[in-house]
Amino acid sequence: MVVVISLIPIPYRIIALVQERNNLFEYPLERLAGVIKEVGFRCTSCAKCCTRAFNGHVFLLDRDVAVVKAINPAALEPAPGPEFCDQHGTFYVSGYALRAQDDDVGSCWFLENGRCRIYDRRFSICRIYPYMLHREADTEGRVDWRQISGLDKHGEYNHEIPQDECLVLARETKENENAFLTQEISFLEFM
Ligand code: SF4
Repeated sequence: MVVVISLIPIPYRIIALVQERNNLFEYPLERLAGVIKEVGFRCTSCAKCCTRAFNGHVFLLDRDVAVVKAINPAALEPAPGPEFCDQHGTFYVSGYALRAQDDDVGSCWFLENGRCRIYDRRFSICRIYPYMLHREADTEGRVDWRQISGLDKHGEYNHEIPQDECLVLARETKENENAFLTQEISFLEFM
């Protein structure tokens, strides 16, 4: 027997996620590329975003988990916030997160001297950051997709980003969100 901790019935949540994924497909790539150009983010290698002091956890897509397992399975831990548990007290979550080191800021397992040890193989969310997508309403109630990560608290902004780079980032960001929603839907269907 599986106990559902969430109050919203699973079928409704699946329908909502499928609708969100459909909305994502319809969201114009050029519009997201425009947001990326407007934000003009450039990484300064401050490494803040690779710590739990800045980001709660780094959620991994299933394909990322396979990569971590090949590098070092000890770097994996269940993502926080389980929503289901069974009669044996086992909790279920939709995926894994990267384990943090036991230092003051909770550095990512792969962070060493402010640099990513696996930079060439870093994960989907690490590649698109800070262009995570999130549907929310603005002050006038218009719902849109926004980038949400620590604006003006890391890196540098207002740089000139070439249009082709903006389009590549926009495509990767939409693809990451699609993979995330698909993973969540599969998890709920399984449960
Ligand atoms: S895998 Fe690398 S880029 Fe991603 S959070 Fe960890 S140190 Fe940062």
